[in-house]
Amino acid sequence: MNFYIMTLFPEMVMGGLNNSIIKRALEKGLIRIEAVNIRDYTLDKHNKVDDYPFGGGAGMLMQAQPVYDCYKAILKNIENVTDSPEDGAANAPRVLYMSPQGKTFTQKMAQELAQEENLILLCGHYEGIDQRVLDRMNVEEVSIGDYVLTGGELPAMVMVDTIARLVPGVLNNDDSAVDESFADGLLEYPQYTRPEEWEGMKVPEVLLSGHHKNIATWRREQAIENTRLKRPDLYERFLEDEKKKP
Ligand code: SAM
Repeated sequence: MNFYIMTLFPEMVMGGLNNSIIKRALEKGLIRIEAVNIRDYTLDKHNKVDDYPFGGGAGMLMQAQPVYDCYKAILKNIENVTDSPEDGAANAPRVLYMSPQGKTFTQKMAQELAQEENLILLCGHYEGIDQRVLDRMNVEEVSIGDYVLTGGELPAMVMVDTIARLVPGVLNNDDSAVDESFADGLLEYPQYTRPEEWEGMKVPEVLLSGHHKNIATWRREQAIENTRLKRPDLYERFLEDEKKKP
């Protein structure tokens, strides 16, 4: 899977992502991440990429031209993308615009996005980006939560990390992503590792029993209880989904 990150701070993005599990996935060629510097595409002789908003107001806006030229350069480098964005970009990759105004990013969204071969993530900065280029690129706005960051780089890192670990082979054991929080609408059960007793606290007996069915039942019960206590909203949805099951 290929991620193209359009940003003014490529070093920040690559520095944040090229570690641990994601670094190993990059080395194995399971994923590819290209952070493309939008500033490289400005036609301004002083390398500027931003300007004042029409109508006044605080801050600066990223201009349409460098963003669009950067996007077109990325499309040119992707195999089998023949349609130009002007033609509706029928087979162009989806473009996710990191935006506090977008749909909130979820594990479900990540699972769906992990099926894509190519994804473009667009990071805004300053007060955002000229609306015309967002319309032209037909972006999908995605937010990481109801708060405002200075730029889209951290959200892009959050999304790439979340999506990449769902690509087959990226986690050592692909089951890890099946069994964890949100995968089936529940939070995960509590986990324990060695030693069996620490500061007088023992690991639940059932986990030492080697009885797989009992362990699975215990974990399911704990996951339900964990969800009820920590995320009543998820718990309600879980109960409704259970009722619908035949
Ligand atoms: N003026 C914009 C508004 O009020 O909606 C906020 C701009 S913000 C200061 C600058 C950039 O940070 C945005 O263009 C976006 O790319 C990114 N950003 C900020 N908060 C974000 C969030 N919660 N989720 C995703 N991206 C965010």
